[in-house]
Amino acid sequence: MSQQTTLSAVVPKFAEFIRQLPTVYDLATCEEETLHQLWSGLGYYARARNLKQGAQLIVEQLHSYFPQSYQEWLKIPGCGPYTAAAIASICHNEKVACIDGNVVRVVSRLLALSQDVWSQSGRSVIQAHLAHMIPGDRPGDFNQAMMELGATVCRKTKPLCTLCPLQQHCQALARNCIAECPPKKPRRDFVDVELAALLLWHKSTDTLALVEREVGFLCKTIGFPLIPEIDRPAVEKALSSLSKLQFELPNKFSHTITHHRISGKALVANLDVTADSLPWQELSFPQPFHWVKSSVIAAKLSTALDNKVFKLFQEYYITSE
Ligand code: SF4
Repeated sequence: MSQQTTLSAVVPKFAEFIRQLPTVYDLATCEEETLHQLWSGLGYYARARNLKQGAQLIVEQLHSYFPQSYQEWLKIPGCGPYTAAAIASICHNEKVACIDGNVVRVVSRLLALSQDVWSQSGRSVIQAHLAHMIPGDRPGDFNQAMMELGATVCRKTKPLCTLCPLQQHCQALARNCIAECPPKKPRRDFVDVELAALLLWHKSTDTLALVEREVGFLCKTIGFPLIPEIDRPAVEKALSSLSKLQFELPNKFSHTITHHRISGKALVANLDVTADSLPWQELSFPQPFHWVKSSVIAAKLSTALDNKVFKLFQEYYITSE
C-alpha cells in the first residue's frame, strides 16, 4: 500500500483492510467491489489487483502456506525484488538486502560513489556492497534501519550528519562531496502518444466494453480499448455498420504513465448488436471484450487513464441529459 503513497494516507486504510480481510483466504475470495472500496483513495489500483492475484496463488497453489524464501516470494504476482527482500529478511530472517531509493542514497554516500547508481549495473554495485554489510543474525532489522536512516537522517537535501550513527564511516562526509552522491538520475525524455479511447456502448443495457491489454506500456491493465490515431479511420469504418451513433466526446483526456505522455479523445459508438464478431484481429485490436454495466465499471478499471476517460463519458451524459 505504501508504494507511491504516503504513510499518513495508508495507516487508516490498512487498518480497515485488515479488519475486513484478515486472512489470505479472505483476500483471495473477496468481491472485486469490496477490494475496490477498501483501496479507494490510495490510487494505482493495479497494486490491489496484484495483491489479490498473489493471495489467490497462495491459496490455490500453495494451500494457503506463505512462501518461505526470497526466491519463492518473487514468484508471487506483484511481488518484486524489494517486497520479496523485505518479507524474506523481516519475516524469515533471510540475509537479503532491501534496496529502495533511500538505501541507494545512504550506500552511495557511505562509499562516495560517483557512478550512475540508478542503472542496472549501478544497482549491482550497491547490491554487492550491501551483501558485505548485512549481518546474518538480524537482516530484517538491518534493512529497516537502513531505510529509516535514509528517510529521516541521510535525507536527499540537508542530511543530518551530526546525528548520523555512520558518520565515522562516511566517505562522502570525509571528502565533502555529499551533494554529488548519488549523482542525479539521468532524465528520460517524454514520448508523446496520441490515442483514441473507444467506448463501445450498448445503451439499451448500459454496458460498456473493456479489454485486457497484453502488449505495450499499458500491458496487464484492464480498461477501454485504446487505438493509435493512425488506426482510427479503419476502426470507425468497421464500426459504422454496427453503430447507431458514433461521435467524439468534446473534451480531450491526457495522462502521463512513466515517460509516456498520452492524450486523445474518446470515441463513443452506441451499438445495437454485438461488436465481438468484427475482424478486430486484422486491426490489431485487443480481444475479447468484457461487457460491464456502467454502474460498476469504475471497480474494474485498473488505470487512472481509464478513470479519466470514463469521467469524461459520465460528464458528457450528465450535462446532455
Ligand atoms: S554522515 Fe551524512 S551523508 Fe554520511 S551517511 Fe550519515 S547522514 Fe548520510
